[in-house]
Amino acid sequence: MSSIFTKIIEGEIPCHKVAENEYCLAFMDINPVAEGHVLVVPKIEVDYFFDLSDETLARLMQFAKPIAKAIEAEVPCQRIGVTVLGLEVPHAHVHLVPLDERGLISFRKKFKTDHEQLAALAAKIAARLE
Ligand code: 5GP
Repeated sequence: MSSIFTKIIEGEIPCHKVAENEYCLAFMDINPVAEGHVLVVPKIEVDYFFDLSDETLARLMQFAKPIAKAIEAEVPCQRIGVTVLGLEVPHAHVHLVPLDERGLISFRKKFKTDHEQLAALAAKIAARLE
């Protein structure tokens, strides 16, 4: 069975898309831990991040870099954290999460938001990539 992220990539499940290229997709996390929490996923479905090929890993991080800068420009924060953690979705992905002086984000504590806000922020971040 396809992962939920493959279903998003294939358009079977909607997402608030931020950016896409031939190999990767970035979209707003539906249950963010901070405002501007974006997921970056390779289109190839591989469960474990470190099972990705070197080529895919490099493509993923190069794709993530301008997105992190765009989030940083859009959301008040000190920098963008990059994490690979969690076991919820068996499809390798990188979390891009705005950080501030409060330090490490708790992935158990969620940021309250709704679809309207996620869509608006996705559009603003995407516009900074143009
Ligand atoms: P992990 O596998 O790293 O623990 O976390 C998976 C992440 O994917 C979580 O932050 C969760 O909120 C997010 N997520 C799970 N299902 C969906 C979904 O259907 N749409 C979106 N946009 N995010 C999802």
